[in-house]
Amino acid sequence: MIATKITFPPSEVEPFFWKGHQWFVKRDDLIDPRFSGNKLRKLYTLLQTDPHRYTTLISYGGAQSNAMLSLAYLAHLKGWHFIYYVKTLPKWLGDNPTGNLQLALKLGMELVQVPHRDFYDKVDTIRNMCTEDVIFISQGGADKSAKEGIRILAEEILAWQRSNSLTSFTVATPSGTGTTALYLRDYLPKEIDVVTTPVVGDRETLLSQWQQLEPDQALQPKILDHYPKHPFAQPKQEYLQIWQSLKAAGILFDLIYAPKMWLELLTAYHKLKTPILYIHSGGVTGNLSQIEKYRYKGLL
Ligand SMILES: *Cc1c(COP(=O)(O)O)cnc(C)c1O
Repeated sequence: MIATKITFPPSEVEPFFWKGHQWFVKRDDLIDPRFSGNKLRKLYTLLQTDPHRYTTLISYGGAQSNAMLSLAYLAHLKGWHFIYYVKTLPKWLGDNPTGNLQLALKLGMELVQVPHRDFYDKVDTIRNMCTEDVIFISQGGADKSAKEGIRILAEEILAWQRSNSLTSFTVATPSGTGTTALYLRDYLPKEIDVVTTPVVGDRETLLSQWQQLEPDQALQPKILDHYPKHPFAQPKQEYLQIWQSLKAAGILFDLIYAPKMWLELLTAYHKLKTPILYIHSGGVTGNLSQIEKYRYKGLL
């Protein structure tokens, strides 16, 4: 069955009591379990696209990426061929794919491994060679086409604000490419604060990603970066503890992005406008391979 238009209802907002504070969590993770929450938002325009418009979807990035898995579902639903470029995998993973990679391959993703040193040249060549029937999506879905889906997310947040008669509050979402945070900032009025934290790289990395995406956007999200930069997706005892504590309080989050954002929110809490609305962007299927890493390092 080829899907022409894929629409979904607004996600719920749940009250969440944790570490002595009342928080609110927007459950974008529950909209469609096949897609991690904000990837579904970012792919909104493509989900509405006529399947006949393209034959092939091409992207690149990490071998366990949430964006990769969401694109694999999208291509599967639309009947498009999906080609995904990764840097040469460690042999154990190539021989025995796990987690998001395993799921994406089962959906028919064609995986192409490229040696590290040639990777970005190769990706650029492919990008420039794309014909009319091919859609090329940048790493992590960092793309202007993500705007429409994030606009709808902002509309839902404003509806929640009205039904709770709030004048001001804070919206929090961790950043990979920073696309979600930047477009939320763009669509929400300035009485509402938008805060984020860089999970890939640091403040400078995030600022340059925003600069590339929207060089003219005056108002940017507030960056919370009390905690030092940490290599992406690498285990850290403190992240694990926060993740376990959140889970014990009743909500399962992802192990890569959420722990750092929650740590930053706890530290900055007294300086932030309350209440705080956390956008749960899913990614929990990626926990499988993250937990393996924690075990391997003896942290779990
Ligand atoms: C992809 C992802 C992010 C980062 O979103 P960006 O728009 O790239 O900043 C945050 N949280 C989760 C769970 C994700 O999967």
